[in-house]
Amino acid sequence: MSQRHIEDTTDESRAPLLDVSDLSVRFDGSDEQVYAVNGVDLSVERGETVGIVGESGSGKSVTALSVLKMLEDTASVTGTVRFDGEDLLTLDDDAMRDLRGDRISMIYQDPGSSLNPVLSTGDQVSETIRTHRPPAGEGVSWLERSVLGNLFRSKDSAIRHEQSWEQTVDLFERVGIPLPEQRALEYPHEFSGGMKQRALIAMAISCQPDLLIADEPTTALDVTIEAQILDLLAEVQETFGTSILFITHDMGVVREVCDSVAVMYAGHLVERAETEALFESPKHPYTKALLRSVPRLEGGTELDPLPGQVPKFTEEPTGCPFASRCEAVNDACYDAFPPAYPVGPDDSPLSVRSRGAVAGDPVRDPPVRRSDRTYDHVAHCVLYGADETLTAPVESPTVEGTDSQVSTSAAPEGSDSR
Ligand code: SF4
Repeated sequence: MSQRHIEDTTDESRAPLLDVSDLSVRFDGSDEQVYAVNGVDLSVERGETVGIVGESGSGKSVTALSVLKMLEDTASVTGTVRFDGEDLLTLDDDAMRDLRGDRISMIYQDPGSSLNPVLSTGDQVSETIRTHRPPAGEGVSWLERSVLGNLFRSKDSAIRHEQSWEQTVDLFERVGIPLPEQRALEYPHEFSGGMKQRALIAMAISCQPDLLIADEPTTALDVTIEAQILDLLAEVQETFGTSILFITHDMGVVREVCDSVAVMYAGHLVERAETEALFESPKHPYTKALLRSVPRLEGGTELDPLPGQVPKFTEEPTGCPFASRCEAVNDACYDAFPPAYPVGPDDSPLSVRSRGAVAGDPVRDPPVRRSDRTYDHVAHCVLYGADETLTAPVESPTVEGTDSQVSTSAAPEGSDSR
């Protein structure tokens, strides 16, 4: 985990680098609408690593792609996505192009389809550097920005190419690609899966981004390469103070690399907590079920999978999204989704005012913020705690917790987590 966010004390550094508020995404198809993300609040502090976990279909990748405004045209996005104080949803295409690959970059979950097969890996990384880091006083022509710029280099751009190529070879060496000068000339089909992922990471860190979005960066890798990639990301964060939004199915990885965790289910953020707080004392029934389904190394415990599937909402969701699979479900759960609220270790609601919030602040979905240390744990439900509208008591079986001794990979499978 990074220590940088703990050391920052200036007023400027106290504001989250990324502040997502009430984010909703709806896809309008010809036959139906899909409510993919529903009122998500999420913040990432400077230098912090935030994990987003949840099964396939929970909206993790859609949330990440919303930040970069890379969703298809059928998507309707509402809410605010503040990055360093600026609402990205209001920026035009040119402004977003300047940000992508520069201040915000992304490692995609499938390195095989994320690299251009007709360009050398080195050309693809150096193109990013030339686009965002031209020498002082020099612009980069549209030709150089394009794929053609890699194939037909003008005399004027020769120096720029030489500089960016040297930086690319340095990056390849840094991410652990052997014989970097030679490998930078090779094409993606000549790279193994792990090598492609390293090339993508080299591209993602080439401009020293403030925010790195890693969408299941180790899903396709064996455990040895996975460990190397995680070490590499930690080194990048340590060196550049990069914030990381880490999307994964793997609870073991989350526990190892994340400062805090957001749990998503069916497009809703159901729980947010400091990492250890989440593993030691999960609050939401879905989080408990998710942790119980993690395979464990110690013997004698049977795997306890969560039955059923994540629902796809084709109408605006009203009740609790987890109602169809929750063992503690009550009739009232289908009518309203209990609000999120700050919760103490004993599941009791924390007083908003007593923790420093201003009177009148909305109680719904208060974010966990490290910089002002407002809350350690925020969750929906805890069987209807802190809710003034859902008065019906839940008469249901106790939802068991988990000992959370996660020591190996969680494995709700599926490479597409949208
Ligand atoms: S008890 Fe009801 S509100 Fe709470 S998680 Fe289960 S279904 Fe949702």
